[in-house]
Amino acid sequence: MKTIYVDNNATTRTAPEVVEAMQPYFSELYGNPSSMHFFGGQVEKAVKEARAKMAALIGADPEEIVYTSCGTESDNSAIWATLRSYPEKRHVITTRVEHPAINNLVNYLRQSDYRVTEVGVDREGRLNMDHLRDAISEDTAVISVMWANNETGVVFPVEEIAELATRHGVVFHTDAVQAVGKIPINLKESKIALLSLSGHKLHAPKGIGVLYIRKGTKFKPFVVGGHQEKGRRGGTENVPYIIGLGKAAELAMNSIEEETTRVKALRDKLEKGLLSIIPNSMVNGDSKNRLPNTSSISFEYVEGESILIHLSNLGICASSGSACTSGSLEPSHVLRAMGVPFTAAHGSVRFSLSVYNTEEEIDYILEHVPGTIEKLRSISPFWKDGSLLTGTTSCAVKPGAPQ
Ligand code: PLP
Repeated sequence: MKTIYVDNNATTRTAPEVVEAMQPYFSELYGNPSSMHFFGGQVEKAVKEARAKMAALIGADPEEIVYTSCGTESDNSAIWATLRSYPEKRHVITTRVEHPAINNLVNYLRQSDYRVTEVGVDREGRLNMDHLRDAISEDTAVISVMWANNETGVVFPVEEIAELATRHGVVFHTDAVQAVGKIPINLKESKIALLSLSGHKLHAPKGIGVLYIRKGTKFKPFVVGGHQEKGRRGGTENVPYIIGLGKAAELAMNSIEEETTRVKALRDKLEKGLLSIIPNSMVNGDSKNRLPNTSSISFEYVEGESILIHLSNLGICASSGSACTSGSLEPSHVLRAMGVPFTAAHGSVRFSLSVYNTEEEIDYILEHVPGTIEKLRSISPFWKDGSLLTGTTSCAVKPGAPQ
């Protein structure tokens, strides 16, 4: 059975060029970049070059790049370091659709005597900017809004929010884990103070992340230890992965155009094809401001998990909700925040493509998904002979279901 991997927002294939670039740093080039001798020095030089490549991808200065272990650590680090830098301020603003790396952190903060405002989104997943503006107060230490949503791909106006935050003397952080490598990012002219990214979402390995810290941003470190990363994150550098991420950043610089043209065209073909064949199906998320690779599609009156199992048996790897929430039968918090009706949120599947996907793969999905949905609907109590049973409301909301 062939593998059709369309779950790239969960993780990506490590590019062969990245594996090759990392190889020597697992074997002969094992020196510590902090060592005084020539052996460590040559590794230090390679780390410096990788840092420059990483910085170039997001229009940053190499000194503004701090390596971490993952996107989650970068997110935690950004928020904690800011709160520690402004101990007199006790208010945090974020959104209702963040990844658990922020979502669960602010839940924890709420229990630790911080005030948290979670700004809502509309039916298309767009942020309520009036709510965000009104929430800012003298007590606000940090605003954290993701650059792009991992489930729907909706892109948020982070540059505008960063300007707003700066005018009010508030630090702005963005979780750009899903955006980096998929859409152009240039921090040179922006007011974004802190930005998180993760290697395994852009064809580098799992276990490496970056926190961008704009020059001049107050930052009391979260991971305290040695003097590495100019005292902003203790711990001996993960040299092979830093080198790998540098290579991945270089590849991404060259592939962003392909992401926004060829990959987007494949995604659009997939969406159009599925929606035209399958009744009672819909795309979740703003059609204008969306990542080029992501498609969250709801197939009403079928369970997302059942669809995934059937697709998996056909070799198609997709996701329902985020990887972290799949496995639970609760519809995703993102779709619930958008007010997607229960019957649609429950039957949502996320397809997320990469430059490694081909037209043949999309054709294979288009050939097999409609039959899968039809089969599952044939055993649904709401569905008979290709349509909803009379007396059943399309998009009915299950009583008591969280919206
Ligand atoms: N933020 C977003 C938007 C994500 O999609 C993810 C991973 O899915 C993370 C943070 C966490 O990144 P990591 O897996 O590197 O900890």
